[in-house]
Amino acid sequence: MSEIRPQYQLEKKIDWVFFDLDNTLWDFDKNAEKALHELYRKHKLHLNTTYRVEQFVQLYKDVNASYWKRYELGEIDKDKLRTGRFIDTFVLMGIEPALQPTNIWNEYLEICPQMTDLMPGALECLSKLSQVFKIGVLTNGFENTQNVKIIKSGINKYIQFLQTSESVKLAKPNEEFFRLALFENGVNRTNCVYIGDNLNTDVWGGINSGITTFHYLYDVNNIEHITHPLFGGTVTDLVDWANWLIANQAKYESN
Ligand SMILES: [Mg+2]
Repeated sequence: MSEIRPQYQLEKKIDWVFFDLDNTLWDFDKNAEKALHELYRKHKLHLNTTYRVEQFVQLYKDVNASYWKRYELGEIDKDKLRTGRFIDTFVLMGIEPALQPTNIWNEYLEICPQMTDLMPGALECLSKLSQVFKIGVLTNGFENTQNVKIIKSGINKYIQFLQTSESVKLAKPNEEFFRLALFENGVNRTNCVYIGDNLNTDVWGGINSGITTFHYLYDVNNIEHITHPLFGGTVTDLVDWANWLIANQAKYESN
């Protein structure tokens, strides 16, 4: 895998490093897949369908994606999203209504956050950065759910601040969401950096809030070339990025 180093030069001392959580530190995709595997086994779905577990996971992902589109268009509410994506998947798998597990959507929401897979290098990145900077997590999600992810995956010891969209009733990319996080910690927007995987909510949200923002990209085939002065760069290796930030800080402090 090619490695793209951030070209940005930080001409300032950094106090805080803020992270997105899902698919930046916590491997949402992998953990969701594990939770679905567990539920397939638990409910012995193989007894009522010809779909193997891998096929079930793929089908669920497709159905889930179309449900999210409808949710974002305002066509359905959150409850419909949560239940419909499973019910539709079961129908497509040929499972009769009477044989469909009825509480599986709640079980999924219970099990998924307890999974512990992190993005490659996330733990080492946090361990290194936490020796030099204060670490915060800014995430669109439920307070309890995101807390469970952070605690179960063992990254809580590195994190001094967590802000969820639920707790502040604002969501990324709303600039107020970012400004509130800075205000809460008494940090100026020029003395922090932010990193996230989503181009809209994270990258443009951060940039539009006046924060130097990095795009975390595990899949290097999707690189976006952004020329905004507050775009820090594309990060494909979290440890490499941590080393770069620390070296940048050392250079600043020796001047
Ligand atoms: Mg994310």
